[in-house]
Amino acid sequence: MKVQLQNITKIFPSRNKKSKELVTAVNDFTFTVPDGKLIGLLGPSGCGKSTTLYMISGLEKPTSGKIFFGEDDVTELPPEKRGIGLVFQNYALYPHMTVRQNILFPLQNLKGEDKLTKEQMLDHVDEVTKLVQLEQYLDRKPNQMSGGQQQRVAIARALVKMPRVLLLDEPLSNLDARLRLQTREEIRRIQRETGITTIFVTHDQEEAMSISDMIVVMKLGVIQQVGEPQEVYDNPVNLFVSKFLGTPPINVFNGRISGEKLYIGEEEIASAEGKEDMDVYVGIRPEGFIVDPNGKLTCNLESREVMGRDVSIVSNHPESANPIVRSIVDSESVFDMDAQTIKYNIKKSKMFVFNKETEERVFFEGDKLPYHLTQYLEEIKSEETQTEENTQEDNA
Ligand code: ATP
Repeated sequence: MKVQLQNITKIFPSRNKKSKELVTAVNDFTFTVPDGKLIGLLGPSGCGKSTTLYMISGLEKPTSGKIFFGEDDVTELPPEKRGIGLVFQNYALYPHMTVRQNILFPLQNLKGEDKLTKEQMLDHVDEVTKLVQLEQYLDRKPNQMSGGQQQRVAIARALVKMPRVLLLDEPLSNLDARLRLQTREEIRRIQRETGITTIFVTHDQEEAMSISDMIVVMKLGVIQQVGEPQEVYDNPVNLFVSKFLGTPPINVFNGRISGEKLYIGEEEIASAEGKEDMDVYVGIRPEGFIVDPNGKLTCNLESREVMGRDVSIVSNHPESANPIVRSIVDSESVFDMDAQTIKYNIKKSKMFVFNKETEERVFFEGDKLPYHLTQYLEEIKSEETQTEENTQEDNA
């Protein structure tokens, strides 16, 4: 089931009752979630991810804009009529009920023509408990299970009504690191097996990147960039996106373009042919440094940490926007740890330049332009036209 959000905006009155100020939680959000895909909605706290998810679920109503599930306009429909499954951070299971009763619960509330016989209900429960691999825990109560298992019960409960769309709001936040990793792989497997269109909200970039077909990066209610996770990491459109993705984070330097050359401090880093003079930020991913005694960028060496195959070198630079510069280089890189300084060359594909004023990317000769939202929406539209044409041909 394709989910289409058309120019969705949500404005809340301030939570402070004395203030008349309005809060724009989501601003003109236009995006299409393709059928059967897992999309990660990603951004820092307060960027509007949960509000977007709640509008898709029907728990919140947009101030303006429209939401479609397939061809159905669901903007005015209440949550129970949308055919969604919702999973929250706090599993929200009924503590006095067994796992079986918890999963059965949404089916027992079905009314009218949706009503199921006891046998049908138990069949559905069987099916989803197999899917989430909880068959042997059906008679347990939630408090007799680990956090990861409880979250799987919550997922089973969301899936038991065979929803058209599965919505997950920070489902892994309450789990410890090991369970988080395990459960996110589980979610990916379940999503692949069921093929349910899924939207997954998280502030954790690693989590979103590892399981999503596509990510949508948000800031202050506005979409910043969409694309496949690797693509967004490799080709950020602005400083915010470049800083938000990647661990260890990107290194940011104050730089300038002058006389068609790019400088960090007094060191010339690269050619900037055809570019106007301007102040910039230069972002270099940790894996973008190559140790070279004749390198162009000189940093003050602080320490190094061996991490098996790689070595992480900690240094500093007067023009660095952060207290340290962290590079990750091959463990076979040769350098003198007793030296005061270390020199680097920089891999072009791992260096991004941003206009200091607008923080938007400055593209250089040979840079691939990032996959853009407009391009994405055009692709979706042309796929749809293609499908329509094929259907018409088939019908003819
Ligand atoms: P988090 O990860 O912290 O939940 P988020 O990205 O999901 O953040 P939202 O919860 O969607 O962000 O909130 C977006 C903005 O809207 C925030 O500034 C928040 O304070 C505000 N907001 C959300 N719900 C309401 C509400 N009911 N009334 C007033 N303001 C709200």
